[in-house]
Amino acid sequence: MNDKHSKTPGQVVEDTIVPACKPWSAEVRKGDVVRLIDLEGQQAVDFLCYNLTNKDERYNAANTIKLNNSIYLGQDTVLWSVRAQPLMTIIADTCGSHDTIYGCCSIEIDRVRFDKENSWGCQQNFESELVKHGMSEKDIAANINFFMYVPVREDGQIAIADGLSKPGDYVDLRAEMDVLVVLSNCPERDNAAAGYEPTPIRAIVYRPTA
Ligand SMILES: [Zn+2]
Repeated sequence: MNDKHSKTPGQVVEDTIVPACKPWSAEVRKGDVVRLIDLEGQQAVDFLCYNLTNKDERYNAANTIKLNNSIYLGQDTVLWSVRAQPLMTIIADTCGSHDTIYGCCSIEIDRVRFDKENSWGCQQNFESELVKHGMSEKDIAANINFFMYVPVREDGQIAIADGLSKPGDYVDLRAEMDVLVVLSNCPERDNAAAGYEPTPIRAIVYRPTA
């Protein structure tokens, strides 16, 4: 395992290896930081975020694109809610580009895209994880794909390209309010989202030293 980014500038609240293909979630206090480490590189991390005290207020991709004037997420990007409140801010990013337009994989879309009966997808991961928080599929919004590269060409065409993230690349997300974060360590094997071979990631929550 690549361990060069395990030293966090603060007190570690949680430190978890999320196995390949599995979901993870955490309630994160305002001011705390979530570090997501792509341990082996080219591993998409599908990500949702909610206001912890009012989970109807959640991450909104369109607001985030509008208010950051970019379809890509990176250093200093604010994750905006459907009520145009800052949920989190990307305060560090060693990868450089993350997607929020391509959505997540699912058993159902793989049937259409690949004519295959895959057993699991990020949609299913989200559903199983949201249940733990009293939520359901109705709470799934258009998500972020950290470490996933979806270039948009001048003519508007898009497709998943090979991921840009190298082993050990990470993003730091500072909570701007108390939030619930839910992620799916993407199990897709039929496109480049997870480099055709899903791998583990590491999720650290830390409280920065003042
Ligand atoms: Zn996926």
